[in-house]
Amino acid sequence: MRTVRLCFFAIKSADFLQFSFLLYIFVADFNFQAMHSIHKYWLILLTFIVMVSPVTAQTSWLESLGINLDFDIDVPKPVVTYRDLIDVGSARHMTGSVCVVYLFVGTETNRWTPAEIEATAQKLYAAEDWLKAQAWKWGKKVDFKNYSIKKQLIDDNIPSSPFQPEAVGYPKSVLRRFGYNNDKELHEILTRKTGCSQFLVLVFPHISGRCYASAINKNMARRGSGKSMPECCMLYKISDDTGRELQVGRIAHEMLHLFGAWDFYALGPNDKERADKAAKLYPSSIMLRSYGNIEDRSIDELTAWLVGLTRKENEWYKDLMPPVP
Ligand SMILES: [Zn+2]
Repeated sequence: MRTVRLCFFAIKSADFLQFSFLLYIFVADFNFQAMHSIHKYWLILLTFIVMVSPVTAQTSWLESLGINLDFDIDVPKPVVTYRDLIDVGSARHMTGSVCVVYLFVGTETNRWTPAEIEATAQKLYAAEDWLKAQAWKWGKKVDFKNYSIKKQLIDDNIPSSPFQPEAVGYPKSVLRRFGYNNDKELHEILTRKTGCSQFLVLVFPHISGRCYASAINKNMARRGSGKSMPECCMLYKISDDTGRELQVGRIAHEMLHLFGAWDFYALGPNDKERADKAAKLYPSSIMLRSYGNIEDRSIDELTAWLVGLTRKENEWYKDLMPPVP
């Protein structure tokens, strides 16, 4: 059983080196010679299929056998090259028409009031206006078409940070509970209703927490798991790090992540050098600081390149890539 789990995990990660390594560990650990011959054949056959099949074929081959590879452990694979967030996912680049789906989640004892929902929607529109104006400064036009899901979802188990195990899949589970069971279907509905070919989902929980964005990278798209998955943000009513109410700048910052932007502040104790470099180069960037007056913030040249507002690339960009978690 352990073998099966290890092999499937390796296939899911589509990483041949890791697969070989796990296989080696398995053989070394369990003594290949002593294995029952049927297990040996199975292992050799599976190894052969994995080695000779393209990544997508492995997935469809296993899925055609009814083997569900969508384990709960399927956290997004880290970004491995500095181009991995560019032009990928449901929000590929911040140009053209983008559909913004937004919805509200409260708890049994802590629900959104209609006035709060309205005030939050106004912040979202202000963030969109700011992003539009910034894009225009780079000579690009972006248009946001809002698609609001009016009914509030009540859930007493909302994750409050990206570090909780259920955080990555949470926005998707919210969509499921609203009846959108299929990413592709949702994409088609939105395309039909709004005419947009790109879309993103914003979830507003009525609790305090650390905002985060679930963006798709090229690894996920290559494996097929991210192709039609909506890129989403969790935008908490109260920020748990500052204790402040959600701000316009924060909404714009998280939306930019979905189009491919990086954080410029230090993401850990070993990240100070990179953050200092970024702060020196782009002191007014919204990816460095998202609170305060949004009019003092801007989309810097590197973020503009990452989100598709310019093609001009500089050689120091890769040095400012956030560390892989
Ligand atoms: Zn960020």
